[in-house]
Amino acid sequence: MLQDRTAVLAAIAEEVRGCTACRLYQGTNNPVPGAGNPQADIMFIGEGPGFHEDRLGLPFVGRSGDYLNYLLNLIGLNRDEVFIGNVVKHRPPENRDPSPDEIIACKGFLDRQIEAIDPLVIATLGRFSMARYFPDARISSIHGQPRYDAEAQRAYYPFFHPAAALRNPGLRKDMEADFRRLLDVLAKVKAMRAGDAPEVQAEAKTPPSPPDDKPEEPPQQLKLF
Ligand code: SF4
Repeated sequence: MLQDRTAVLAAIAEEVRGCTACRLYQGTNNPVPGAGNPQADIMFIGEGPGFHEDRLGLPFVGRSGDYLNYLLNLIGLNRDEVFIGNVVKHRPPENRDPSPDEIIACKGFLDRQIEAIDPLVIATLGRFSMARYFPDARISSIHGQPRYDAEAQRAYYPFFHPAAALRNPGLRKDMEADFRRLLDVLAKVKAMRAGDAPEVQAEAKTPPSPPDDKPEEPPQQLKLF
């Protein structure tokens, strides 16, 4: 039920606000527990909050957020239809990578968010969220290749991090091609849950204009792939 999911997610967010389980809460302005539709079919998982996310307490704002919005719009979706979370909920200082002990300390929050939302597709953004489902894989090798989990009735679909695609325009073509297959992946999971597995082609809608690609200060999450 929507009310149940909303209540569970709100309770998790409240716990995140008071969490001191790892060092990352120190010196931050806001936690970023995640945001979006509690009944989302698609859940995106990023890595950790950056400068702008820490200021607003929301995931994927600033240029990376603009690009993620562009990618969603490319396939006829918007943020109200998905949920966006992170591997760690507080900003690592200077946008450094989250350390293994910090990821482990924060894992329970993300696990519980996934359990509450029960998404059909978990779309990972960058290598740290990818590593939850594709350990030892390289994002450059497996991006855009879904793994279907028959037991969980779910797909795991790895993307480059939007910030990586912004820094390296050569990745944009792959990033956008991967996004255009996302609805196809979702349709296949829906068929799997319905006990069928037809080949379904996603229909991409008219693409919007890409966001501005000028540099942003301070830089967002570095070393993301
Ligand atoms: S990053 Fe996660 S585990 Fe660390 S303090 Fe924040 S909420 Fe707690």
